[in-house]
Amino acid sequence: MPQVYNWQLGRKMSYPYDEAHPRLQFAFVFNTNRCIACQTCTMACKSTWTFSRGQEYMWWNNVETKPFGGYPHNWDAKILNLLDKANPGGQRWNDKAEKSHEAPFGAFDGKTIFEAAEKHYDEQSAQRVLGYLPTDQEWSAPNIFEDNARGGQWGSLGQFGQSTQLPEHKVWFFYLQRLCNHCTYPGCLAACPRQAIYKRPEDGIVLIDQNRCNGYRKCVEACPYKKAMYRTTTRTSEKCVGCYPRIEGKDPELSPNGEPVETRCMSVCVGKIRMQGLVKIDESGRWASDPTNPLYYLIRERQVALPLYPQFGTEPNGYYIPPRWVPRAYLTQMFGPGVQSAIEQYSCPDRDLLAVLQLFRATQQIIFRYDVVKGPKVAEIEVTMPDGSSRVQEIYNDTVLGYNKFGVEVVRTTVEEPVFERDAALHANSI
Ligand code: SF4
Ligand code: SF4
Repeated sequence: MPQVYNWQLGRKMSYPYDEAHPRLQFAFVFNTNRCIACQTCTMACKSTWTFSRGQEYMWWNNVETKPFGGYPHNWDAKILNLLDKANPGGQRWNDKAEKSHEAPFGAFDGKTIFEAAEKHYDEQSAQRVLGYLPTDQEWSAPNIFEDNARGGQWGSLGQFGQSTQLPEHKVWFFYLQRLCNHCTYPGCLAACPRQAIYKRPEDGIVLIDQNRCNGYRKCVEACPYKKAMYRTTTRTSEKCVGCYPRIEGKDPELSPNGEPVETRCMSVCVGKIRMQGLVKIDESGRWASDPTNPLYYLIRERQVALPLYPQFGTEPNGYYIPPRWVPRAYLTQMFGPGVQSAIEQYSCPDRDLLAVLQLFRATQQIIFRYDVVKGPKVAEIEVTMPDGSSRVQEIYNDTVLGYNKFGVEVVRTTVEEPVFERDAALHANSI
């Protein structure tokens, strides 16, 4: 089987197809610390793309409450169990492996969904990817266990030990926002016997050709994130289309001059937790160095945003700033070995990081480049770090600028939120 390089695993891995990469890659960062689970993103997606017959159980975007919630139910526990069975006790990160820019988390010594399938299925087998088909029951109740907490008087979560990381809280849960990760090495694409799934060279968005799809549901079985879904009325599979007309700048109202605009689920985010963009891929298939792209900065430069279950091996292009209060063992199995560093950086962001964090939901247009104009120091704040120690955070009122694909300024905001005092005499209802 061909070998492809997976930077999240810090090594090559087997994959059914040779390496091939787009010029730009659709990617996004979610700040889990800010989500309020209002599901506005979910409904924006639903009302745009999946409102028709046969799509009743189709939630391309969903927000689930961890540790118990999941759509389909227990999707991650089930695939993790399958991987563990395929490679008992071996699903480990090698923390002694050398770290570098191309392998920032060291190396994953376990087996990916592609490698585990190689071991467990012979050449003739139709299964190229380790996976499973969820039952109808598992596709029901998309928001099951909403707001169910764990820890404190209800006890710990087995192997994950303590109730919560921050002493102020006795129990924990957090919201995990999910959609198709438009993976670099998609499991859905690898498994499709009809070659109906393709990755677009211009933006890395993964699509299912509805004319070629015969509804074998191999993609549903193989996507470890369970983001390919079967529609009974058309007998084909469907998945998130990355709102590609918006990415192409085809919305005449939002993009009169062809400016790429973020997807529906990103643009509507009430908690301002989401930022989506396009990152440059160089000729060798690696992320081109582009430190003034906010996504590159957060993901590759600072590693404050981490991939979801990188050990699956699909190199997902969705990245998460992990929640500060959740037991680290739970987060590490979900986001890999970068968790501690990401949380420390986010808990007391330095000047540069704080500036870039202002760009979340500051515009609907995709920001290709940002710039910071230095401002005066306006405050010093004492911050309690997750381990209980104190740190002093210096706040500077810098101005952050964002530019679109054509280099036009589309954002200008400051770190310190301006205060406007209304004239009481002009507003009868002022209090
Ligand atoms: S719209 Fe934003 S805040 Fe609301 S559930 Fe979705 S990701 Fe969370
Ligand atoms: S998340 Fe699933 S459906 Fe989306 S590209 Fe990856 S494997 Fe395919």
